[in-house]
Amino acid sequence: MLRRNIFLWFLPAAAWALDLTLPTANDGLFSPGGEARFFQGTAGKDWRSGQYGCVRSEGRQYHEGVDIRCLQRDRRGEPNDPVIAVAGGEIAHVSRVAGQSNYGRYILVRHDWNDVEVFTLYSHLRDIAAGLRAGQPVKRGQPIATLGYSGTQNIPRERAHLHFEVCFQINRNFAAWFAPRMAKGDRNDHGSFNGINLQGIDPTAVFLAARRHPPMNFREYMEAQPVAFTVLFPARRAPLSWMRAQTWCIVNGPEPAPVTAYEVWFMAEGVATYARPLWDVSPARWTVAGANEIALKTLAGRALVTRNTSGDWTFTQRGAELMEMLDY
Ligand SMILES: [Zn+2]
Repeated sequence: MLRRNIFLWFLPAAAWALDLTLPTANDGLFSPGGEARFFQGTAGKDWRSGQYGCVRSEGRQYHEGVDIRCLQRDRRGEPNDPVIAVAGGEIAHVSRVAGQSNYGRYILVRHDWNDVEVFTLYSHLRDIAAGLRAGQPVKRGQPIATLGYSGTQNIPRERAHLHFEVCFQINRNFAAWFAPRMAKGDRNDHGSFNGINLQGIDPTAVFLAARRHPPMNFREYMEAQPVAFTVLFPARRAPLSWMRAQTWCIVNGPEPAPVTAYEVWFMAEGVATYARPLWDVSPARWTVAGANEIALKTLAGRALVTRNTSGDWTFTQRGAELMEMLDY
């Protein structure tokens, strides 16, 4: 009887774990004061610089993931923490050549979390599990790689870490959009899984939400994210390719007339969380319809929208490029 009671008592704790686990054995994120053990800071900076967000260069530099500290090394001093998939999904992309990306060796796993297509990215890997390739199913907790320090920038061995992202693919046809825009001599070895086409959100917030509110509903989580700016898109090719991949965020009502535009709500990152068709406006181009300064300030270094000299909200060059990618 006692055993049975203990078993029942433990059930809730196991329920969240079914959904999401941390990508290495480093669980400092979940213990009070454990941040310094969890995050790997950049050269000469403390653990804060290993967090997600505008945590570098006085906030001007945006870090799209978290850098997780190495916990174990072999006799030669090489990092050897196993890296595991944080949830079940499908391998989307495996890049085994360290010099082909500033991610170094990296893996992307595609997930369907409550009908939201989302990816987790594991990078700077030392090595990748033999035989792992795109299209394979992967289970939560399955070892897929070893933590390392691979990349095109020189990461010293002492600072070996896992750069981990929870991210969205901006456009499935990115490779076609990017090809004519590439600088001479540049190459794209990653098709539409190039880092330029991936937009991260805060992994720490996702892990903490999954732990605090099990079982987590990721769609509701995304819908609850603060809106930083709203955009009107002409409905030339309705809906946007983003909406074709992320059908959860489009709200369709009865259509009294042909749709002429879409109003889309964005997080400060540039991730769209809501879209609705409109019939009464016809913007010639994508236009900033409104902005929330407080939400924008939480990620000031991302800088997708800004005020022009007359005080109106407009896209920065980076913002305009993102809109172009979304609308391609
Ligand atoms: Zn990083």
